[in-house]
Amino acid sequence: MGRIPEDTIQQVRDRVDIVDLVGRFVNLKSAGRNHKGLCPFHNEKTPSFVVTPDRGTFKCFGCGEGGNVFSFLMQLENLTFPEAVRTLAAQHGIEVPETGGDKESFALLYDANQAAHDFYRQQLAVPGNPGARYLEARGIDAETIERFEIGFAPDRWDGVVQELRRRKIPLQLGERVGLLLPRRTGDGHYDRFRNRVVFPIRDVRGRVIGFGGRVLSGDQEPKYLNSPESPIFRKRDAFFGFPDALEPIRREERAVVVEGYFDRVALQRAGIDGAVATCGTALTEEHARNLRRRTKKVVLLFDGDEAGQKAMERSLEVLLPAGVRVHAAVLPAGEDPDDFLKNHGASALRQLVDTAAAALDVCIRRAVARGVSTPAEKADAVASLTTLLVLVGSDVERGAYEQQLALAVGAREEDVRSAVRAQRRGDDPLDSIPVRPRIEPAEMRKLRRLARSLVEHPQLAGRVVVEALDEVGAHPVVELIHCLVRSSAEKRSVSVDEVADGLSDEARSLLYALVAEDLPLDEPDAKRIIHDTNRWLAHIQEASAQRALTEEMRNADPARQLEILRAKQENAPSRHSSDPPEQRLH
Ligand SMILES: [Zn+2]
Repeated sequence: MGRIPEDTIQQVRDRVDIVDLVGRFVNLKSAGRNHKGLCPFHNEKTPSFVVTPDRGTFKCFGCGEGGNVFSFLMQLENLTFPEAVRTLAAQHGIEVPETGGDKESFALLYDANQAAHDFYRQQLAVPGNPGARYLEARGIDAETIERFEIGFAPDRWDGVVQELRRRKIPLQLGERVGLLLPRRTGDGHYDRFRNRVVFPIRDVRGRVIGFGGRVLSGDQEPKYLNSPESPIFRKRDAFFGFPDALEPIRREERAVVVEGYFDRVALQRAGIDGAVATCGTALTEEHARNLRRRTKKVVLLFDGDEAGQKAMERSLEVLLPAGVRVHAAVLPAGEDPDDFLKNHGASALRQLVDTAAAALDVCIRRAVARGVSTPAEKADAVASLTTLLVLVGSDVERGAYEQQLALAVGAREEDVRSAVRAQRRGDDPLDSIPVRPRIEPAEMRKLRRLARSLVEHPQLAGRVVVEALDEVGAHPVVELIHCLVRSSAEKRSVSVDEVADGLSDEARSLLYALVAEDLPLDEPDAKRIIHDTNRWLAHIQEASAQRALTEEMRNADPARQLEILRAKQENAPSRHSSDPPEQRLH
């Protein structure tokens, strides 16, 4: 592909109606000379995305994105400028003349992948080849192979090498898209994918951008091998199953997301078309945006074990901020979608997906199932959900979940709410609690550790020099420490609920957060922390006494100054010979 002539670009620009183009992705309403809708580039509740047909431009007053028909398509579909022009030109029957004979190297990269793809497909068609035998053993029929255009990379070092040579595609390009690896000796290349079943990964325009290959036997490593990142393959926004899934996703207003090639195939076999799989990465923000442009609802399909749950929570962390409604279909522990299909049949898998509960409901149920009988467990359960709840964009929706969580764990709704609020104010709910007076983060850490030591080991409360604490000022963490010391005298355990009852909102949410901290803290640790904090507080006390003295000296007459100095000298030896107050407690 050469440069596109300026007048062709102009012609395309004139022909494309921006309201028509944007309207395919955004529900636009006419507003005077403009059209307004919800921005496809960021998550919003009220429309700040404005299209001006007279000028052929768009602008979002929420996120600042703006441009013309080309930039709209480039942003939305991750296209380059020439790609956007060609796409629109093709849609409007405008011919783009090829200037010059030399193709852009980008196009050649796609060609290299297509050549490999054709080769892999041919190899799978060879009678009795190991790839076909493997697929047959997994119950993958000819129709499915055809549908996903599954191929086979034979156990050869030069299969793709020969194919590229035959088509006169430079081997360097094969290397650039990761089909080939350079020989260590420095001359020549060899095939990356060998003795693997190969899945082609396509972009929204249907071009092959990469491959995922699975081994045929257990002793081969790694189990899955993907094309590396290349100028045309970005794992962070690529999906296996595109572009076939686009239409079903739009039609069903739902996308199903799975983690593996065979999972995607299993869904297809169960009659679920609108599904995509990530290609060897966890779901990213780009994936989330990519999906959000097409649908508001995503169903995640995950293994029922702890690892599956963690993976689901990670996906939620990227999907919720994108404004996607997330549902979670949970498989029985140890079964992947492929197993499930085999063991329970197509309609059971369909039903599992169709009736998937809201993912946050699933998370709440999981948290409750881990146990909420003790106050500490309740706090754990709440803390495990706050990081997800803050990501829910809608206040109404979040409020409903807070209520549900409170009910489910048996906590007070306002406590759950304030925990979420605290989480919302900053990354660290503890540091984000309003500070009055200002306490440095390092000091805050010390005091938090002290408070946590007291929660874990109340029998040590007597060691804390509480008088010195007041030097720090009136702060929720100080309030909490005082309260812990008071309530834990002589006790081996502390009742979190009891302590919480006597606290201000901020101190209480701090307490719940501390209880949820998942760091082991044994008694020697706690003793050391108390010792260190006492020493630090003693320094603060001393400094404050020094400041008071200086202040007094400044305001005193000479005779009084002399008196003060004399008194200071008298006090000095004892002050310096004594250790910080904490030492006396040993
Ligand atoms: Zn925007």
